[in-house]
Amino acid sequence: MPPDSPLPAFDAAYAPDDATLAAALIAAMPRDPAGEARIDTTATGLIAAIRAGDHHLGSVEAMLREYALSTREGLALMVLAEALLRVPDAATADAFIEDRLGQGDFAHHRIKSDALLVNASAWALGLSARVVQAGDTPQSTLAALAKRIGAPAVRAATRQAMRLLGNHFVLGETIDDALARAQAHGAGGARYSYDMLGEGARTQADAERYYASYARAIEAIGRTAGNAPLQARPGISVKLSALHPRFEAVSHDRVMRELTPRLIELARQAKHHDLGFTVDAEEADRLELSLEVFAACLADPSLKGWDGYGLAVQAYQKRASAVIDHVDALAQRFDRRLMLRLVKGAYWDTEIKRAQERGLDDYPVFTRKAMTDLNYLHCADKLLRLRPRIFPQFASHNALTVASVRELAGDSDGYEFQRLHGMGEALYARLRAEHPELECRIYAPVGGHRDLLAYLVRRLLENGANSSFVAQAGDDTVPVAELLRRPEEIIGAPNDARHPNIPLPRDLFQPQRQNSRGIEFGDRAALQRLVSEIDAARRPLPRITPATPEDAAAAIVAARDGFADWSRTPADTRAAALVRAADLLEQRRANFIALLEDEAGKTLDDCVAEVREAVDYCRYYATEGRRLFGDGVVLPGPTGERNTLRLRGRGVFVAISPWNFPLAIFLGQVTAALMAGNAVVAKPAEQTPVVAEAAVRLLHESGVPRAALQLVQGDGAIGAALVAHRDVAGVVFTGSTEVARAINRALAAKDGPIVPLIAETGGINTMIVDATALPEQVADDVVASAFRSAGQRCSALRLLFVQDDVADRMIEMIAGSARELTIGDPRDPATHIGPVIDAEAKAKLDAHAAKMTREASVQFAGTAPTQGNYVAPHVFELRDASHLTEEVFGPILHVVRYKASDLDDVLATIARSGYALTLGVQSRIDDTVARIVDRLAIGNVYVNRNIIGAVVGAQPFGGSGLSGTGPKAGGPHYLPRFALEQTLSINTAAAGGNAALLSEQD
Ligand SMILES: Cc1cc2nc3c(=O)[nH]c(=O)nc-3n(C[C@H](O)[C@H](O)[C@H](O)COP(=O)(O)OP(=O)(O)OC[C@H]3O[C@@H](n4cnc5c(N)ncnc54)[C@H](O)[C@@H]3O)c2cc1C
Repeated sequence: MPPDSPLPAFDAAYAPDDATLAAALIAAMPRDPAGEARIDTTATGLIAAIRAGDHHLGSVEAMLREYALSTREGLALMVLAEALLRVPDAATADAFIEDRLGQGDFAHHRIKSDALLVNASAWALGLSARVVQAGDTPQSTLAALAKRIGAPAVRAATRQAMRLLGNHFVLGETIDDALARAQAHGAGGARYSYDMLGEGARTQADAERYYASYARAIEAIGRTAGNAPLQARPGISVKLSALHPRFEAVSHDRVMRELTPRLIELARQAKHHDLGFTVDAEEADRLELSLEVFAACLADPSLKGWDGYGLAVQAYQKRASAVIDHVDALAQRFDRRLMLRLVKGAYWDTEIKRAQERGLDDYPVFTRKAMTDLNYLHCADKLLRLRPRIFPQFASHNALTVASVRELAGDSDGYEFQRLHGMGEALYARLRAEHPELECRIYAPVGGHRDLLAYLVRRLLENGANSSFVAQAGDDTVPVAELLRRPEEIIGAPNDARHPNIPLPRDLFQPQRQNSRGIEFGDRAALQRLVSEIDAARRPLPRITPATPEDAAAAIVAARDGFADWSRTPADTRAAALVRAADLLEQRRANFIALLEDEAGKTLDDCVAEVREAVDYCRYYATEGRRLFGDGVVLPGPTGERNTLRLRGRGVFVAISPWNFPLAIFLGQVTAALMAGNAVVAKPAEQTPVVAEAAVRLLHESGVPRAALQLVQGDGAIGAALVAHRDVAGVVFTGSTEVARAINRALAAKDGPIVPLIAETGGINTMIVDATALPEQVADDVVASAFRSAGQRCSALRLLFVQDDVADRMIEMIAGSARELTIGDPRDPATHIGPVIDAEAKAKLDAHAAKMTREASVQFAGTAPTQGNYVAPHVFELRDASHLTEEVFGPILHVVRYKASDLDDVLATIARSGYALTLGVQSRIDDTVARIVDRLAIGNVYVNRNIIGAVVGAQPFGGSGLSGTGPKAGGPHYLPRFALEQTLSINTAAAGGNAALLSEQD
């Protein structure tokens, strides 16, 4: 390939089928009996060393086993470790410690090891547990603590235990400390790769700070690196997510433009000192982007002649082998040697969750650990064959994996093993005692306590999970033979390559229904396909003529005529029409997305989510409808009669929906009413008539008779005319509280039957953040909740309460993160915030922002394009929550600080507002969460996550008070509210007596 031709794209399938992969992997695995015997011998020796080494080398591992994750104490310990060190104020720290220690039985843990650490931790935790009794209130417990040993003593001891734990896994708080410690340890010539800990940048300032810390570290490492040849020299590992605040697939162009030069600069520095320089592997959706940045840096001519550049590859990813081929091709193309670190992967649980949430066709990672282990060996074999162009680095603490790699290598040249600092000491000490020629590098995290938490949790998970080798090897009850079972033996047949308890994302809700199909934007081919389909589907928006009041009346009459047939149509047939509609929606996803983008100004991710929600509504109500509207429920009663309770349609339902979810809410209302056997007259928002028309066409095509579903376009006056019609049997409405009230009054003013109203309105939604929350997570969740969809969701966050001890840092991170959002054309996948719905909305929001700029403290003022209905995102800090008196339906967030001791006042303020739609709580203290949930009857409460994007069937949505009447959309109580109940009692003995009773056998 000529050197100036474009770099090849990495285009391996994102989530291929497990069975196909398994068949190939099993068939390709070289196994010869003599080699297998050698693997057994080596691995057995290594396991023996791990088991014997507990009391001196593996003390932390011993402690982690003592508090394994399968125990309440272990889980409590992990959460404690994750948050305690970042809590600045004593009161929250004490409440947190008490909350966690109250969950376990630390006092009765027998100390099995005499290691200092185990003693210290068990002492601290055990002591605390003895004074914290289950059932004590925080106040009484704290009082008791203070009386006996004093809360500060408990806090100090627990913090100390956590620090010891951190110190075990982190080589130093600064690079100089770490280098000094490595020097002290490294008399035996240990190799190190340093890793600067951190959570990934959320702000530009974070990214600059991480960059500076990498640059400083490279200089410091370089200064002390000595004269050894490259492969024996120290190195550094960098995380791309630390170097850019939006390291994500949709921000591709920006990442390539801004991040690549930063990486090249660091690599040049590493080259200058002839150090190893490895790009860490992160989440699967970032793989393609990582590879592109990696390749662009490799291509930089200034790095020519340096062999220290490298990449980590995760064997749990189904694309691992393809990554190796791709990187090898790059190495050939640029005539370079590269270092490739093979790991299994640290984000497995996150990957499974993300794929399920995104509704992907399959997982990008394996679901059985043995598949990861097998793939690791396959990749190891491949890497070893690519020597010396590739210098393989095998990172594992698994004795069988290590022994197998050693056997595959056959010799000790041109590769090394790697382990994490604080783990695997005994294993590698034994390996090197037997094979001194084998090299093992230590991956050494460096960072202060604030930065080590996420890393610590990963290690606790790794050590404590039942499936982990470290946990099993440390458990003497697990026979060595079990640990020596080869992965292909564990897998069995290729068809068993998937974990039986981890359903495919589309089967998440089976056997009830199929999950809606989503897309992974990190799968570039899928994203490009979708974008092309949308472009091809785009048409100029037609002009829609609004209905006249006469049209509206005629639609009601037509629906009334259609009602009789439709309500008699079997529930199964009605449900089948909805399922067909769901399938058609998925097939025509691109058409609907094009309409949503063009008519409602929605961004691509919002459009995908909206189509999915609409699909889920159709399938969910179909399933619920079959359950509820079949033959009815037979009720108990005296002999000789049959009593049945059944549900049936009420008549004509008027469905009035908003513009912010012109497809999902529109279809949600309409399909629920139809499934319940009603005829429907649907009145969409006047801003989004075209989406509604397409949705109605689709329902008609799916088998809903025209007479049963009438569409009436128009503004509020037409809605009012529909509501006022005497033949209306029910109204379902989503929109503002004022309009809901007007509808309610109009219905009440009518003579005739009392007509039910199902209303979902908005709210001043809040989130409470205490000092135990993780700032990065808070920033992600707040920014998504407040600014996604330009804040035009009824669930969006309007008012954030932050504990004042951590408020400065939290607000700074939220503002910094908001600053990185791209505002612009919603048709561009890189856009995070599109326009607001119309000029009127923009004027209102701009006026509010101007008022707040005068009256509140501006924490962030974004910029927005001047052409179009764009509103710049803002964060205002208010002195008092009472300054926000109404829902502000746009990208404007209000923040209020609160004192930990005043949490009850915050709750009272929220309760007083009268709104009760969504609430977020960010806290690691279960007791605090329980207290808030108990006190506030808010419809949807979200803990340690964002507060938007309720999933049909999983998070039924809707509030109470000023926020709506209930029942919840997408929940089990929704359909019955659209129906009448009918009890049918038949005297079965009327004709000819009670034959059934008389036929009873004696
Ligand atoms: C030097 C070094 C550098 C590292 N750098 C990175 C990095 O850049 N990126 C990164 O992601 N990780 C990195 N890691 C972490 C690494 O991924 C874990 O330490 C490793 O997975 C543990 O594997 P093991 O062979 O020691 O243990 P084992 O117990 O044999 O394997 C545990 C691993 O198996 C996998 N697994 C567990 N359950 C399942 C399942 N049901 N289905 C499929 N797979 C499963 C997971 O990957 C899990 O971590 C690094 C580790 C080391 C030692």
